[in-house]
Amino acid sequence: MKIPKKNRDLTRCVRRRDLLRLIGFLLWVALLVCGALFYNHEHQTYPDYRRMVGWRMAVWVIAALFSGVLIFRIWKFFTDHSFSGTIVDTGISRSWGASDDPGGAANYDFRLKTSLKVRTEKGDLCHIRFEQKPGFYLYYHEGNRITHFRGLPYPINTDPTASNGYVCAVCGHHSKDYTDICPTCRHTLIDPAELGKN
Ligand SMILES: [Zn+2]
Repeated sequence: MKIPKKNRDLTRCVRRRDLLRLIGFLLWVALLVCGALFYNHEHQTYPDYRRMVGWRMAVWVIAALFSGVLIFRIWKFFTDHSFSGTIVDTGISRSWGASDDPGGAANYDFRLKTSLKVRTEKGDLCHIRFEQKPGFYLYYHEGNRITHFRGLPYPINTDPTASNGYVCAVCGHHSKDYTDICPTCRHTLIDPAELGKN
């Protein structure tokens, strides 16, 4: 499942994020390694055990790579992929403000992670976690079909029976009616009706 052609800005957004993450990782590693080389250069008269040479340098480079992978979440390049599936379980608090206007978000603002357990078309069970936003308890329901797009945090409800509004795949803004542009982040909204027309 690919991002619809209509939502070119989302494809660009994912590419830009990938590129920034990669550049950040490379800069981080380069900074630490160059720092060590500079230290060695500045302390040439020191004995080897006080300089970053041999195994010390090797450990330093490994530590730089390892911390860079953690900070810039490099594993996402390999583990994140687009998929469709059915929600088996949602970790959404439904009690919160259920009687108030959930889409309006005027009177409350809470930040918890939403955790969806999804049975994919291949039969695998996978978990997606993303920041919870107002209106999600109307939008993500057990039994609904959703599509997750690689690089975009918020999956789209693609269930033909769903009538729970629309969510922006980039910022998670929930709106009852479909608009071309997300009012919060100005990215285009993915229209579930457009999916599969590529
Ligand atoms: Zn948005």
